[in-house]
Amino acid sequence: MKTDPASKIQDLLQFGEFGDVNPSITDSATYTFMEAKTMVDTFHGEQEGCFLYSRHWNPSNKYLADALAAMEGTESAWVTASGMGAITSVILQLCNTGDHIVSSITTYGGTFAFMANYLKKFGIEVSFVDITKPAEVENAIRPETRMIYTESMTNPLLQISDLPVLADIANKHNIKLVVDNTFTPMVIAPAEMGAHIVVYSLTKFVNGKNDCVAGAICADAAFINALADVNTGSAMLLGPVLDPMRSSSIHKNLHTLHIRMKQHSQNALYLARKFEQAGLRTIYPGLTSHPQHELMKQLMHPDFGFGGMIAIDLTTSEKASELMEKMQQEGIGYLAVSLGYFKTLFSNSGKSTSSEVPEDVQKDMGLSEGLIRFSVGLDQDIERSWERIEKCLNTLGLV
Ligand code: PLP
Repeated sequence: MKTDPASKIQDLLQFGEFGDVNPSITDSATYTFMEAKTMVDTFHGEQEGCFLYSRHWNPSNKYLADALAAMEGTESAWVTASGMGAITSVILQLCNTGDHIVSSITTYGGTFAFMANYLKKFGIEVSFVDITKPAEVENAIRPETRMIYTESMTNPLLQISDLPVLADIANKHNIKLVVDNTFTPMVIAPAEMGAHIVVYSLTKFVNGKNDCVAGAICADAAFINALADVNTGSAMLLGPVLDPMRSSSIHKNLHTLHIRMKQHSQNALYLARKFEQAGLRTIYPGLTSHPQHELMKQLMHPDFGFGGMIAIDLTTSEKASELMEKMQQEGIGYLAVSLGYFKTLFSNSGKSTSSEVPEDVQKDMGLSEGLIRFSVGLDQDIERSWERIEKCLNTLGLV
């Protein structure tokens, strides 16, 4: 029986200083102390419950972080100004010059670029592997490896990481398993399956409104405190702090995430079946044709479905562009990057969110230039949406 992330959030009593049902928004960069010694102790991390300066911690961010920790089942959490802020803070906290990372080759393009290009200046090496092959992952581990990095459901190929197996490998080698769960909040609970650190782009499903970018790190208290350390913490020192106004609005949106995930998943399963029946190569973990369909069934929380992401392969980027433009004209959704929005979004991954990945690497990982990634929206009448998509496919002679 999987634990219920939505009820864990619901059970938190989080209200404002005047009993306001939504916690008050912190509109302060700094905080007063009644006694000078308390300030000194707070700087040294010896004083709990005091706020010092908003880049370090602030109450609004703490409310959101506590709710996310409850959802993930981790001791603690930290929120950041973007998903990349979360990912880069974690990597730079765990790795020093000369260290090594084993990462899924299929990840969000920004993560790939950070690992393949940016980490070079720190002398941190990355071995990119096929994350669906645990033997390949384990073989890539060296004495200086600090972490295995993956996405629960990879962007954009929608491969499923076998998190319990990867956690066993990480534990055997005494290294961390870091998992980006952006595509599958509530659907997959990485920390419960052994991930040591879970990162999110909250920009996507968790917020669900496409009105801001934000990120989160969920982990044990020791790691989160290390991130906030005034002398050595990457979150404290690099400063990717989330604005309290934003964390407050994301916090409210988090409370409807469970309902949204069900609807995203239900609509995506419907469309994925239709795409496949129409004869298009379709990638969706809810289809029996998906190579990790059985694994997905083991990992997922059944209440939240197989997630809201689908990929279809039109083989060429020209055909993909034609279809996306037509679908936008027909009101099916927007030709836009990002995901987890209430409207359907579609983009040609190889030319957009994975364009940081060199073309030969895209080919090696099986990313077709005609792949369209869909983030399926909350459409009330998904049959009507399919009729419109089908009309576009027929008009363009694609099926
Ligand atoms: N992780 C995944 C899986 C993503 O898809 C993205 C962005 O598309 C990110 C991380 C980066 O998040 P952000 O854009 O909030 O920095």
